[in-house]
Amino acid sequence: MAKKTDEATIYGAGMSGLIAAVNLARDGYSVTVLDREPGYGGSQLYNPSTHVTPLDPVKTSEYIGIDIAPAFHQVQACPSYFHETKVMLPVWEVFAVERGNRETSLDTLLYNEAVKEGVKFEFDFPLKKEDLASLPPNTVLACGLIPSAYEMLDIPYLKWYGWISRGEIDLGSYAWLWWDECISEYGYFSSCNDFYFDLLFSIREVDKAALDKYKAFAVRNEGIEHDNWEYVSGAVPLQAPDNPRLFCNGAVLCGTISGAMDPLMWFGISGALVTGKVAALAITDRPRAEHDFARFTRRFKESYYIKNVLWYRFIRPNVGMMEKTIRTAGVKNVERAGSRIGRGIPGRMAVPGFGHLNCSL
Ligand SMILES: Cc1cc2nc3c(=O)[nH]c(=O)nc-3n(C[C@H](O)[C@H](O)[C@H](O)COP(=O)(O)OP(=O)(O)OC[C@H]3O[C@@H](n4cnc5c(N)ncnc54)[C@H](O)[C@@H]3O)c2cc1C
Repeated sequence: MAKKTDEATIYGAGMSGLIAAVNLARDGYSVTVLDREPGYGGSQLYNPSTHVTPLDPVKTSEYIGIDIAPAFHQVQACPSYFHETKVMLPVWEVFAVERGNRETSLDTLLYNEAVKEGVKFEFDFPLKKEDLASLPPNTVLACGLIPSAYEMLDIPYLKWYGWISRGEIDLGSYAWLWWDECISEYGYFSSCNDFYFDLLFSIREVDKAALDKYKAFAVRNEGIEHDNWEYVSGAVPLQAPDNPRLFCNGAVLCGTISGAMDPLMWFGISGALVTGKVAALAITDRPRAEHDFARFTRRFKESYYIKNVLWYRFIRPNVGMMEKTIRTAGVKNVERAGSRIGRGIPGRMAVPGFGHLNCSL
């Protein structure tokens, strides 16, 4: 337990920063969270939004010491489209979660907990390069996916580009994925809490023609159309096989900027959750933090190579080939096979912190 005078400073009032704050406050630290935005809940460029992730909400809650299960909603269905060929993916352990500062979001749940624990907040307070030389002891950097933070900390990052649309919708907890050659990643829609988020993203610029193709696909196959599309970009810590790091510039890192992200599908929620707790441990029990961080990110390197060597070069450019293979095997057969092996797959993915199946929690 810290002395009453011990202070901790956290930059980033998103999910991982808030979790670190709650845990440090409970350990007796006087905690201040600073964010460049005017409020909590992550970057307003992307949030409010809804995300989808494999997760074990109960085990994750136990690990981080906060009951986050009420913010996670079991996804009812998630069709995956290879061009126009629809395959129903198994969704047993896939959850939708709302980000941002609306009442129903995960961030609001965490923020309320932080306030209850006496955490102080200062908004419109960006970390700047000139601050780095004099960071106070017990500083945690939880700056998410903002390129300027990676640049100032000299953390290798990959830039991504995409179109987003978000707003109200009455669809329950639902998602889809769309694979096409016009992007390197995918198009995906998710919804929960009567809100949706739609994203078409790539590691290359995404032109208007690609967006028009995606919009036409969504109308044809899902009967959904929205016009409020914005072009955004961001950073992900997927530039190098050794991207994951718990310390930088004498400070503790957590969340996505620490590299706690799945290089294959870019799931970042589970990693941000568990590394928020790890960051608090890095201040109170460094050996345990190092052990847990290594455990949660241990599949990063192999997934990085699978993505960069196998997936980008040989598989991803051939959506037509994937579609043809599925049609030849029969969609129903592929779905049946997916159901049989599906339960084991997420546990073997490099989704940090997820997986009662492979003891990564
Ligand atoms: C568009 C989009 C869609 C996504 N979809 C999914 C998904 O479906 N499933 C999934 O698992 N993951 C998804 N992710 C990834 C996931 O959102 C992130 O990995 C996760 O939110 C990271 O949490 P965090 O705590 O690291 O950062 P955040 O929650 O993003 O918080 C970072 C905070 O740091 C602040 N900050 C940044 N720079 C500074 C600075 N210089 N000074 C002070 N404060 C600063 C920001 O304002 C922000 O509040 C998505 C990401 C994006 C951008």
